[in-house]
Amino acid sequence: MLAAVVRSFTEDLEITEVPVPTPGPHEALVRVEFTGVCHTDLHAARGDWPVQPALPFVPGHEGVGTVVEVGDEVTRVAVGDRVGNAWLASACGECEYCATGWETLCPRQRNSGYSVDGSFAQYMLVDSRYCPLVPPGVDPAAAAPILCAGVTVYKGLKTTDTQPGDWVLVSGVGGLGHLAVQYAVAMGRRVVALDVDDAKLDLALKHGAEVGVNAATVDDPVAQVRDLTGGVHGALVTAVNGVAFPQAVGALRRGGTVSLVGLPPEQFPLDIFTTVLNGLTVRGSIVGTRADMTEALDFFARGKVGPTFTVRPLGAVNEVLDDLTHGRVDGRVVLDLQHT
Ligand SMILES: [Zn+2]
Ligand SMILES: [Zn+2]
Repeated sequence: MLAAVVRSFTEDLEITEVPVPTPGPHEALVRVEFTGVCHTDLHAARGDWPVQPALPFVPGHEGVGTVVEVGDEVTRVAVGDRVGNAWLASACGECEYCATGWETLCPRQRNSGYSVDGSFAQYMLVDSRYCPLVPPGVDPAAAAPILCAGVTVYKGLKTTDTQPGDWVLVSGVGGLGHLAVQYAVAMGRRVVALDVDDAKLDLALKHGAEVGVNAATVDDPVAQVRDLTGGVHGALVTAVNGVAFPQAVGALRRGGTVSLVGLPPEQFPLDIFTTVLNGLTVRGSIVGTRADMTEALDFFARGKVGPTFTVRPLGAVNEVLDDLTHGRVDGRVVLDLQHT
């Protein structure tokens, strides 16, 4: 099979023939149709996160395909089922986090395209106990971005602890943010979008945001958001610019919660006095559990959310990573694994 393999953190991925893997007892072999390309793949390929993947490896954690073979112990999926991989490839199933429905925090979790080979390949292995089940009848290319971008913003919105009718600030309307606007609207929240690009704010309005604020052209974007909403009940920061984080905290009304999902390398100042007196909550949120994934895919299958994406062949993977590095990607790029 063809795969895009990372052999060095300083060179391009190599598109090369590698053996098709054999499923273990709980694994399924999946013929990959499409895979989304996430910023995390870029970090994996460059090895610039604190824990580097072991070389060589295949990135990719938004893969969608069809099961072609299953291991002896597999009961949850069958040959012919459409499934995906996800950042959470598997977890231990035994620790305090796994036992309480927080497998995304399991210290012994394995991650697709990082600690196990991912979906930038024509076949992949998934753990049948953890893989997302893709609902029947959906466009597999459009489903791919739901598996990381979609579930991440859906879970992030849940962790803002907002209610229907509440205001939510979506900061950054890129690959994650444009889905966040749609999930928030589908969840009955009122959305104010914050970005530095009018075209992205227009996209947010098209997806149901009530107002958009351009942080680059408005004098005081925080004051603007507060004037328009009275202060937001919740905020989701998908932006990869550190400036967006204190802005989101500043936009909260009393008792509000900001959920952080974007991962810029910076720190940000948190004003202790305001945080304490206004009873604010600042929390991180990482991808989503299997239950979150089922819900996120269900919103998608019912047509409530749909990613903006462009399909490229596997052979274009290095160009795509370069485009991501330079912020030249609108929405998501989805690689076609079977037409290379
Ligand atoms: Zn991802
Ligand atoms: Zn665990």
